[in-house]
Amino acid sequence: MLIARVALDIPLATLFDYTVDAAMEVVVGQRVIVPFGTRQMLGVVMECVANSDMDAAKIKPLTRALQDCAPLSAELLRLLNFCSEYYRYPIGQTVLPALPTRLRSDEPIVVKSIVSYRLSAQGAALDLSRLAKNKKVQLRILNLLLVRAHSKAELKVVATTVSAALKLLVSEGWVEEFEQRSDGLTPSPSDKTSSHSTKPPSGRGEHIFNNAHTLTSEQQVAVDAVTQAQNFQCFLLHGITGSGKTEVYVHLMHTALQRDGQVLLLVPEINLTPQLEDYFRSRFPDVGITSLHSGLSEKVRLENWLDAQQGRAKIILGTRLSVFAELPKLALIIVDEEHDASFKQQDGLRYSARDVAIFRASQRGVPIVLGSATPSLESFHNAQTGRYQMLTLQQRANASARLPTVRCIHTKQNLMKDGISEILLREIELRIVRGEQSLLFINRRGYAPVLMCGGCGWLSDCKNCAGKMVLHLKDQRLRCHHCGYQIRPPKVCPDCASNDLHPIGSGTQRVEEILQERFPAARILRVDRDSTRNKRAWQTMREQIHANEVDILVGTQMLAKGHDFPALTLVGVLNPDSALYSSDFRATEKLYAQLAQVSGRAGRADKAGEVIIQTEFPDHPLYRALQCHDFNGFAAEQLAERDMAGFPPFHFQAILRAEGKVESEVYAYLNQARATATALGHAVEVLGVVPAALARRANHVRAHLLIQASTRRALQTFLRDWQFDLDAIPHSKLRCALDIDPLEF
Ligand code: ADP
Ligand code: ZN
Ligand code: ZN
Repeated sequence: MLIARVALDIPLATLFDYTVDAAMEVVVGQRVIVPFGTRQMLGVVMECVANSDMDAAKIKPLTRALQDCAPLSAELLRLLNFCSEYYRYPIGQTVLPALPTRLRSDEPIVVKSIVSYRLSAQGAALDLSRLAKNKKVQLRILNLLLVRAHSKAELKVVATTVSAALKLLVSEGWVEEFEQRSDGLTPSPSDKTSSHSTKPPSGRGEHIFNNAHTLTSEQQVAVDAVTQAQNFQCFLLHGITGSGKTEVYVHLMHTALQRDGQVLLLVPEINLTPQLEDYFRSRFPDVGITSLHSGLSEKVRLENWLDAQQGRAKIILGTRLSVFAELPKLALIIVDEEHDASFKQQDGLRYSARDVAIFRASQRGVPIVLGSATPSLESFHNAQTGRYQMLTLQQRANASARLPTVRCIHTKQNLMKDGISEILLREIELRIVRGEQSLLFINRRGYAPVLMCGGCGWLSDCKNCAGKMVLHLKDQRLRCHHCGYQIRPPKVCPDCASNDLHPIGSGTQRVEEILQERFPAARILRVDRDSTRNKRAWQTMREQIHANEVDILVGTQMLAKGHDFPALTLVGVLNPDSALYSSDFRATEKLYAQLAQVSGRAGRADKAGEVIIQTEFPDHPLYRALQCHDFNGFAAEQLAERDMAGFPPFHFQAILRAEGKVESEVYAYLNQARATATALGHAVEVLGVVPAALARRANHVRAHLLIQASTRRALQTFLRDWQFDLDAIPHSKLRCALDIDPLEF
């Protein structure tokens, strides 16, 4: 009898066995419906075996096998199995969340007859060079139809606005619509009578490539190294901002496409994907490009996923979840801004998409490129010790674009106005006069304005958390960013009834106000999570910035990442200091990366840029290194410190987190876990039970226990054994999680 072993989205680290009816066709990777308790659930077949360890009488039959989508590939299942093992997370809760939501339900994927398009005789006779230049999408479509007929799905990957353009083309009488059968193999009868053939795509990997630049010699070296890699190899592309890393990616994509391969490009921010998608389309106008991220609707995400799975999409841009996309022809993975913390998922399967991508590349035997101006110290160390190959871009690609000068302003020795120094304000004024742009950068964390009482020092604490509530001026609310609790700001101090209540710290809204007072005529644009919540908003803002309709930008992290604003010549950093004294040993590394990145925004075109950092510690080595653009020096010093302290990348960490309503229960659990860990006698270091950085959140007490080992293997061996003990300690009232290679404490 055939037994299917099925992964279900249930918090149990096991597969579930079901008998398969002889008449039913079930294969590994298939989505199936099975009975579970009183419910019917969707699962994925992970194995098909002849015998089960379970009592034969107890095994229930599988209800139904879904046939609407090709089974998941063995490669993807292996990747997910690896993740479940490595991150010590239940297999079913690893596999199912990796799929688009629509594939987690039994609602069938309907692929109706495919609507396709071809040129009419009139369209074929068109002189495309005489078509208006601003009809880019229409032109792209016509160019494609010139080669052969295309289905709507195929055309969709060419532009997001393809439907409207097609309508216009059809109404002009240049393009005809016709229907193809859903299997796409046999042309419909109506098509046979047509003079336009739907011959299969011509040749392998032929595509249009708009080669914009001659590579610099540094870029060429990098491109050659990766192109020549026959097998798995991990490259660290360490290139200063503006050194043309993107151009290197484009050339690498070109080669991979020529070899008929697919390329996965991982990026940290959803916000970057539309702009990147457009950019890559302009370079590869007839190549299928798609994106995968959590901002897409369920329907679109499924379509894009299928585009990748069925090979229509050749370039896949995505945030961390796209590392689990089906990519049958995967030939190259690129992780842009590889140091970015958002590649790490902070709940459920706590995976690092960068690390999973490296495993995926090694499993598949293809090269992977990690790109950054400020690599993570883990990657940098791996490149220095030869595990990765270092590729360096030290020059800006545009020869006339120099690196910005970086200047520190001592906040205690200079005239300050509401947290902004007079020197910085004058520099901003100068830019306004010259018609250039300035950017004021605020690190949101820790600087959001909280309400303080001048009489007694009362602060707007959240009643549920250990943190402070943040003042939002627009809607007059005090809001906790951890639990969402909000109240109207009090008129008088709740403790001493004084009416001297004022905001301290400067949030983006506050800075915007101050600047508007000083420069009433200036056009100020605030860019943060609040102002860009609306999907289109950020797109519109970018256009405004590019059209030079903005004088001063005020923003958070979002603005630091990967944008190219040619008129921007001044960056002011308001108060970065607190990171220097954080309990997080990665805080300085993160601050350096952030400041280097935001500095890179200044002076990208032919105008020189200037960066002004307001600080109480202008002589701090971090700021000194920034001033000389000396990442290597900074990294060497940091690595020496990490080595001394026994931190990553010299040691490997896992953290057991627990949170619950009752403090004693949280600590009792962790202490017991600690006792069992020590008792196992492995070659690992078991540290003490300590409160989390945010010790209370939404009325839950949070604490953790850290484990360190000198090798990954030692840590993994220990964790495998420890898991049995952990499962045996009662913790039904707590939320507990193991976090492997944690980034937050
Ligand atoms: P990075 O991603 O490394 O910060 P970009 O890829 O954005 O840098 O490149 C910075 C600028 O240099 C872009 O405007 C790009 O078009 C230009 N550029 C890249 N490569 C070259 C090259 N080989 N020659 C001339 N300009 C280039
Ligand atoms: Zn008070
Ligand atoms: Zn709170």
